[in-house]
Amino acid sequence: MQYFIPALPYDYKALEPYIDEATMHYHHDKHHQAYVDKLNAVVAKHAVLQKGKLEDLMKNLDSLDIPESDKKAFRNNGGGHLNHTLYFEVMGPQKQIDETLLSRIKQTFGSLETMQEEFNNNALTQFGSGWSWLVEDTGGNLKLYSTANQDSPFLQGHKPIIGLDVWEHAYYLKYQNKRGDYIKAWWRVLKFL
Ligand code: MN
Repeated sequence: MQYFIPALPYDYKALEPYIDEATMHYHHDKHHQAYVDKLNAVVAKHAVLQKGKLEDLMKNLDSLDIPESDKKAFRNNGGGHLNHTLYFEVMGPQKQIDETLLSRIKQTFGSLETMQEEFNNNALTQFGSGWSWLVEDTGGNLKLYSTANQDSPFLQGHKPIIGLDVWEHAYYLKYQNKRGDYIKAWWRVLKFL
């Protein structure tokens, strides 16, 4: 079984000026590809990683009978693949507002702005590399939190709806140390809201 990175559903420069073409090339072609290559390498070593959905394997990772070092490689690189697939999917040059999601957000958080404020705060205060998430938990409720490294919400059985990559590789070329400016710009290219 081999994993592949999906082709970008838009041009590399389609998100300019918010996310620049060079960052998109490095991020999609180099960083995401590296996660997929390392994921394929660890999957090739264990039959138990070769069947079922990546999301489900992630959820049941603790119970898998493989060495800790391979578990860690699978967690990091499987997470890296799932996270980046979502990240590139939820962005786009044109807004296609998801009204159902929008009304669920208003119901849960009071307003879109309140949700965005908390989401941004999680993104800003994530120490070091990680992600800010809007997820659906196991009870079907919307939740906001951040994770470190490439930890996927699927590890807890949560379904990620929106994920913002705050690793420096996602923004450093254009925004340097100004993570806040990147976060603000990213909302402009988030398709659904
Ligand atoms: Mn990334």
